[in-house]
Amino acid sequence: MLRDTGTDALLTARELYRFYRSGDEEVFALRGVSLSVHAGETIAVVGPSGSGKSTLLACLAGLEEPSGGEVRLGGQRLSHRSERERTRLRARQVGVLLQSGNLLPHLSVRDNILLPQWAVAGRPATSADELLELVGLGDRGHALARQLSGGQLARAGLAVALANTPDVILADEPTGELDSTTEQSILALLTAQAAAGRAVVIVTHSRSAVQRADRVITLSDGIASADPVASAGRVS
Ligand code: ADP
Repeated sequence: MLRDTGTDALLTARELYRFYRSGDEEVFALRGVSLSVHAGETIAVVGPSGSGKSTLLACLAGLEEPSGGEVRLGGQRLSHRSERERTRLRARQVGVLLQSGNLLPHLSVRDNILLPQWAVAGRPATSADELLELVGLGDRGHALARQLSGGQLARAGLAVALANTPDVILADEPTGELDSTTEQSILALLTAQAAAGRAVVIVTHSRSAVQRADRVITLSDGIASADPVASAGRVS
Protein backbone atom coordinates (compact mmCIF):
# COMPACT_ATOMS: atom_id res chain seq x y z
CA MET A 1 0.00 0.00 0.00
CA LEU A 2 1.21 3.51 -0.74
CA ARG A 3 2.16 5.44 2.36
CA ASP A 4 0.79 8.80 1.37
CA THR A 5 -0.46 10.27 4.61
CA GLY A 6 2.64 10.61 6.79
CA THR A 7 3.10 14.07 8.17
CA ASP A 8 6.74 13.30 8.96
CA ALA A 9 7.57 12.67 5.32
CA LEU A 10 10.51 14.59 3.87
CA LEU A 11 8.84 14.60 0.46
CA THR A 12 5.15 14.30 -0.34
CA ALA A 13 3.27 14.31 -3.63
CA ARG A 14 -0.51 14.48 -3.54
CA GLU A 15 -2.67 13.74 -6.56
CA LEU A 16 -0.12 14.94 -9.09
CA TYR A 17 -1.39 15.52 -12.59
CA ARG A 18 0.73 16.65 -15.49
CA PHE A 19 -0.47 17.03 -19.00
CA TYR A 20 1.24 18.32 -22.10
CA ARG A 21 -0.58 19.87 -24.99
CA SER A 22 0.71 19.42 -28.50
CA GLY A 23 -1.61 20.90 -31.11
CA ASP A 24 -5.10 19.58 -30.42
CA GLU A 25 -3.83 16.60 -28.46
CA GLU A 26 -3.31 16.31 -24.73
CA VAL A 27 -0.85 13.80 -23.32
CA PHE A 28 -1.40 12.87 -19.70
CA ALA A 29 2.03 12.07 -18.28
CA LEU A 30 0.80 11.83 -14.66
CA ARG A 31 -2.75 11.00 -13.57
CA GLY A 32 -3.16 11.50 -9.84
CA VAL A 33 0.13 10.21 -8.43
CA SER A 34 0.49 10.32 -4.63
CA LEU A 35 3.51 9.24 -2.64
CA SER A 36 5.42 10.05 0.52
CA VAL A 37 9.09 9.45 1.15
CA HIS A 38 10.37 9.35 4.70
CA ALA A 39 13.80 9.83 6.19
CA GLY A 40 15.83 6.67 5.80
CA GLU A 41 13.88 5.36 2.81
CA THR A 42 14.98 4.49 -0.69
CA ILE A 43 12.17 4.31 -3.24
CA ALA A 44 12.60 2.92 -6.73
CA VAL A 45 10.25 4.25 -9.43
CA VAL A 46 9.91 1.84 -12.33
CA GLY A 47 7.71 1.51 -15.39
CA PRO A 48 7.97 1.30 -19.16
CA SER A 49 9.29 4.12 -21.29
CA GLY A 50 6.71 6.91 -21.54
CA SER A 51 4.93 5.92 -18.30
CA GLY A 52 5.73 9.26 -16.62
CA LYS A 53 8.83 8.50 -14.53
CA SER A 54 10.94 11.47 -15.61
CA THR A 55 7.94 13.79 -15.41
CA LEU A 56 7.29 12.61 -11.85
CA LEU A 57 10.91 13.18 -10.85
CA ALA A 58 10.95 16.64 -12.46
CA CYS A 59 7.75 17.58 -10.56
CA LEU A 60 9.17 16.22 -7.28
CA ALA A 61 12.30 18.32 -7.86
CA GLY A 62 10.31 21.45 -8.69
CA LEU A 63 11.94 21.51 -12.13
CA GLU A 64 8.46 21.24 -13.60
CA GLU A 65 5.15 22.45 -12.25
CA PRO A 66 2.39 19.85 -11.98
CA SER A 67 -0.84 20.75 -13.79
CA GLY A 68 -2.69 19.69 -10.63
CA GLY A 69 -1.87 18.42 -7.17
CA GLU A 70 0.87 19.41 -4.78
CA VAL A 71 4.48 18.63 -3.92
CA ARG A 72 5.72 19.34 -0.39
CA LEU A 73 9.27 19.31 0.90
CA GLY A 74 9.08 18.70 4.63
CA GLY A 75 6.55 21.28 5.78
CA GLN A 76 6.90 23.55 2.77
CA ARG A 77 4.97 23.60 -0.46
CA LEU A 78 7.28 23.33 -3.46
CA SER A 79 4.74 23.31 -6.26
CA HIS A 80 2.75 26.32 -7.47
CA ARG A 81 5.46 28.75 -6.59
CA SER A 82 7.55 30.97 -8.81
CA GLU A 83 10.48 29.33 -10.57
CA ARG A 84 12.81 31.46 -8.48
CA GLU A 85 11.31 30.19 -5.21
CA ARG A 86 11.34 26.60 -6.41
CA THR A 87 15.00 26.99 -7.36
CA ARG A 88 15.80 28.39 -3.92
CA LEU A 89 14.03 25.55 -2.10
CA ARG A 90 15.58 22.93 -4.36
CA ALA A 91 19.08 24.31 -3.90
CA ARG A 92 18.79 23.97 -0.13
CA GLN A 93 16.90 20.75 0.28
CA VAL A 94 17.09 18.58 -2.83
CA GLY A 95 20.00 16.88 -4.55
CA VAL A 96 19.15 16.10 -8.16
CA LEU A 97 20.98 13.60 -10.31
CA LEU A 98 19.72 13.80 -13.88
CA GLN A 99 20.24 11.40 -16.75
CA SER A 100 21.75 14.21 -18.79
CA GLY A 101 24.31 14.77 -16.03
CA ASN A 102 24.56 17.65 -13.61
CA LEU A 103 28.12 18.82 -14.25
CA LEU A 104 29.43 21.71 -16.29
CA PRO A 105 31.98 20.04 -18.61
CA HIS A 106 34.47 22.92 -18.71
CA LEU A 107 34.75 23.18 -14.91
CA SER A 108 36.83 20.96 -12.65
CA VAL A 109 35.03 18.39 -10.51
CA ARG A 110 35.85 20.45 -7.42
CA ASP A 111 34.41 23.64 -8.94
CA ASN A 112 31.29 21.75 -9.98
CA ILE A 113 30.83 20.85 -6.30
CA LEU A 114 31.64 24.37 -5.10
CA LEU A 115 29.19 26.03 -7.51
CA PRO A 116 25.98 24.93 -5.73
CA GLN A 117 27.67 25.54 -2.37
CA TRP A 118 28.41 29.16 -3.29
CA ALA A 119 24.80 29.59 -4.39
CA VAL A 120 23.47 28.71 -0.93
CA ALA A 121 24.84 30.98 1.76
CA GLY A 122 24.76 29.86 5.37
CA ARG A 123 24.01 26.21 4.75
CA PRO A 124 26.43 23.89 6.57
CA ALA A 125 27.85 22.20 3.51
CA THR A 126 30.03 19.13 3.50
CA SER A 127 33.47 20.14 2.22
CA ALA A 128 34.35 19.44 -1.40
CA ASP A 129 37.26 17.27 -0.19
CA GLU A 130 34.93 15.14 1.93
CA LEU A 131 32.52 14.72 -0.96
CA LEU A 132 35.30 13.77 -3.37
CA GLU A 133 36.56 11.16 -0.89
CA LEU A 134 33.03 9.88 -0.29
CA VAL A 135 32.47 9.13 -3.97
CA GLY A 136 35.97 7.75 -4.52
CA LEU A 137 37.31 10.70 -6.52
CA GLY A 138 39.77 12.02 -3.95
CA ASP A 139 42.47 12.29 -6.61
CA ARG A 140 40.30 13.69 -9.44
CA GLY A 141 39.13 16.99 -7.97
CA HIS A 142 41.18 19.03 -10.44
CA ALA A 143 40.17 17.06 -13.51
CA LEU A 144 37.74 18.77 -15.85
CA ALA A 145 34.35 17.11 -15.88
CA ARG A 146 34.70 16.49 -19.62
CA GLN A 147 37.83 14.42 -18.98
CA LEU A 148 36.07 11.91 -16.73
CA SER A 149 35.02 8.39 -17.66
CA GLY A 150 31.33 7.42 -17.47
CA GLY A 151 31.71 5.88 -14.03
CA GLN A 152 33.66 8.85 -12.71
CA LEU A 153 31.00 11.21 -14.12
CA ALA A 154 28.31 9.34 -12.24
CA ARG A 155 30.33 9.58 -9.02
CA ALA A 156 31.07 13.26 -9.57
CA GLY A 157 27.39 13.91 -10.34
CA LEU A 158 26.49 12.33 -7.03
CA ALA A 159 29.02 14.52 -5.21
CA VAL A 160 27.43 17.60 -6.81
CA ALA A 161 23.95 16.40 -5.84
CA LEU A 162 25.16 16.05 -2.23
CA ALA A 163 26.97 19.40 -2.17
CA ASN A 164 24.43 21.14 0.07
CA THR A 165 23.67 18.13 2.29
CA PRO A 166 20.12 17.79 0.93
CA ASP A 167 17.30 16.09 2.83
CA VAL A 168 15.99 14.54 -0.37
CA ILE A 169 17.95 12.96 -3.23
CA LEU A 170 16.23 12.44 -6.58
CA ALA A 171 18.03 10.41 -9.22
CA ASP A 172 16.85 9.76 -12.79
CA GLU A 173 18.46 6.58 -14.16
CA PRO A 174 21.71 7.16 -12.25
CA THR A 175 23.19 3.83 -13.31
CA GLY A 176 21.76 3.52 -16.82
CA GLU A 177 25.06 3.54 -18.69
CA LEU A 178 27.34 1.98 -16.09
CA ASP A 179 29.09 -1.37 -15.80
CA SER A 180 27.76 -3.52 -12.98
CA THR A 181 30.64 -2.85 -10.55
CA THR A 182 30.24 0.91 -10.87
CA GLU A 183 26.47 0.52 -10.73
CA GLN A 184 26.72 -1.34 -7.43
CA SER A 185 28.99 1.30 -5.94
CA ILE A 186 26.68 4.16 -6.98
CA LEU A 187 23.67 2.29 -5.58
CA ALA A 188 25.57 1.61 -2.35
CA LEU A 189 26.37 5.32 -2.05
CA LEU A 190 22.72 6.25 -2.62
CA THR A 191 21.33 3.77 -0.10
CA ALA A 192 23.99 4.88 2.40
CA GLN A 193 22.55 8.39 2.06
CA ALA A 194 19.15 7.00 2.98
CA ALA A 195 20.68 5.16 5.93
CA ALA A 196 22.10 8.51 7.05
CA GLY A 197 18.55 9.86 7.32
CA ARG A 198 17.83 11.21 3.87
CA ALA A 199 15.00 10.31 1.54
CA VAL A 200 16.12 8.82 -1.78
CA VAL A 201 14.03 8.36 -4.93
CA ILE A 202 15.57 6.54 -7.88
CA VAL A 203 13.92 6.32 -11.28
CA THR A 204 15.38 3.17 -12.73
CA HIS A 205 15.21 0.15 -14.99
CA SER A 206 17.89 -1.59 -12.95
CA ARG A 207 17.03 -4.80 -11.15
CA SER A 208 19.80 -4.12 -8.63
CA ALA A 209 18.31 -0.74 -7.79
CA VAL A 210 14.89 -2.33 -7.30
CA GLN A 211 16.38 -5.00 -5.05
CA ARG A 212 18.07 -2.40 -2.89
CA ALA A 213 14.98 -0.22 -2.54
CA ASP A 214 12.72 -0.27 0.51
CA ARG A 215 9.69 0.26 -1.71
CA VAL A 216 8.99 0.15 -5.41
CA ILE A 217 6.44 2.35 -7.14
CA THR A 218 5.42 1.26 -10.60
CA LEU A 219 4.10 3.81 -13.08
CA SER A 220 1.85 2.73 -15.87
CA ASP A 221 0.35 5.36 -18.18
CA GLY A 222 0.87 7.99 -15.49
CA ILE A 223 -0.79 5.98 -12.71
CA ALA A 224 1.23 4.74 -9.73
CA SER A 225 0.91 1.50 -7.85
CA ALA A 226 3.05 0.20 -5.01
CA ASP A 227 4.82 -3.08 -5.59
CA PRO A 228 4.39 -5.56 -2.73
CA VAL A 229 7.24 -7.68 -4.12
CA ALA A 230 9.74 -4.98 -3.30
CA SER A 231 10.55 -5.81 0.28
CA ALA A 232 10.41 -9.56 -0.37
CA GLY A 233 13.05 -9.22 -3.08
CA ARG A 234 15.26 -6.91 -1.10
CA VAL A 235 18.94 -7.66 -0.70
CA SER A 236 21.25 -5.83 1.62
P1 ADP B 1 9.33 8.07 -18.85
O1 ADP B 1 10.31 8.85 -18.05
O2 ADP B 1 8.63 7.00 -18.06
O3 ADP B 1 9.90 7.53 -20.14
P2 ADP B 1 8.15 10.64 -19.43
O4 ADP B 1 7.83 11.25 -18.10
O5 ADP B 1 9.39 11.09 -20.12
O6 ADP B 1 8.13 9.05 -19.27
O7 ADP B 1 6.92 10.90 -20.42
C1 ADP B 1 5.57 10.57 -20.08
C2 ADP B 1 4.67 10.97 -21.23
O8 ADP B 1 4.66 12.39 -21.35
C3 ADP B 1 5.11 10.43 -22.59
O9 ADP B 1 3.96 10.16 -23.34
C4 ADP B 1 5.87 11.59 -23.18
O10 ADP B 1 5.83 11.55 -24.57
C5 ADP B 1 5.10 12.77 -22.64
N1 ADP B 1 5.95 13.96 -22.47
C6 ADP B 1 6.99 14.10 -21.62
N2 ADP B 1 7.53 15.33 -21.72
C7 ADP B 1 6.81 15.98 -22.68
C8 ADP B 1 6.86 17.30 -23.25
N3 ADP B 1 7.78 18.20 -22.84
N4 ADP B 1 5.97 17.62 -24.21
C9 ADP B 1 5.02 16.72 -24.62
N5 ADP B 1 4.91 15.47 -24.12
C10 ADP B 1 5.79 15.10 -23.17
